[in-house]
Amino acid sequence: MSIEFEIRPNPQPVSDLERAALLTDPGFGRVFSDHMVTVRYAEGKGWYDPRVEPRAPIAIDPASAVLHYAQEIFEGLKAYHAHDGSVTMFRPDANAARFRRSAERMAMAPLPEDLFLASLDELVRIDRQWIPTDEGGSLYLRPFMFASEVFLGVKPSSDYLYVVIASAVGSYFKGGVKPVALWVSQDYTRSAPGGTGAAKCGGNYAASLSAQAEAAERGCDQVVFLDAVERRYVEELGGMNVFFVYDDGTMVTPALTGTILPGITRDSILTLARDRGMTVVERPYSFDEWRTDAESGKLREAFACGTAAVITPIGRVAFPDGEFTMTGTEVTERLRRELVDIQRGRAADPYGWVH
Ligand code: PMP
Repeated sequence: MSIEFEIRPNPQPVSDLERAALLTDPGFGRVFSDHMVTVRYAEGKGWYDPRVEPRAPIAIDPASAVLHYAQEIFEGLKAYHAHDGSVTMFRPDANAARFRRSAERMAMAPLPEDLFLASLDELVRIDRQWIPTDEGGSLYLRPFMFASEVFLGVKPSSDYLYVVIASAVGSYFKGGVKPVALWVSQDYTRSAPGGTGAAKCGGNYAASLSAQAEAAERGCDQVVFLDAVERRYVEELGGMNVFFVYDDGTMVTPALTGTILPGITRDSILTLARDRGMTVVERPYSFDEWRTDAESGKLREAFACGTAAVITPIGRVAFPDGEFTMTGTEVTERLRRELVDIQRGRAADPYGWVH
């Protein structure tokens, strides 16, 4: 399918001078590019009006279904300046597939994957001056879709609006990689069997905020969620998957049981590590096992992974009765370097991950 986007360039783009100032220290999620993509869907009509247009507020009716019943999904991925000067994205096809699966779980119209990919290409093409050139900087792409039918009633919406915006982001670790501190939530869970944990829907993140606030109160950066049934097994963080690295070189990561988001970074690490001869086991991993093995020294390292920070060592883990720490970062740093080198085009890409 060839998709023709109607291109409406922004008549008032940010000036070169102002953009350069914004890109000096963009932080994360605050500096936005000049354009956005919009595509509409209506039952019986399908996808229509694919456009690249000036980034602007979207007017929606107060009875739009998303505002009441939260039918909304999103994705997150980055565009970079590669080593050779080209502009690349990392595994956007995997984001397209996850977006479609999220839509199916939320009973939304699945966006064709080629339309998803074309929308990213269009936005990156028109806003490529917004990609920071410094090492570690990138243009974070945020595709999302919500129920736009004007109707108060609990049912799948007949209309959807798909949008892509882009935000220039700086290096996640200015001044070096810093281990994160985690709080193990006892009172809150993220997702139950049969729930929406494997979908990237806004509601999952709304439900995680009280736990995140609790973590912040205890001086921690992120929450570790345990399973909702036994409250024994480690699932993931609020926005990252987790890996555990043993002193014999094996790694463990929680299996994808339907309650965990299938991270694209997680999947890439599994492939990389296995290709390098490491044994990586996907299985249930209890908090007790984590604590016991960290305290005995058998567990040298643990790390969190996701698009935003790629791979981050976990330093301290706090829970109501105490805390423990892990000090190793050797395997974590090696995997991080290997993955970032492929992403940035400094190393060969035998997997065809770089688009
Ligand atoms: N888990 C959750 C809950 C997330 O929000 C994310 C970020 N998308 C991840 C894991 C990591 O996924 P990815 O590697 O695809 O960014």
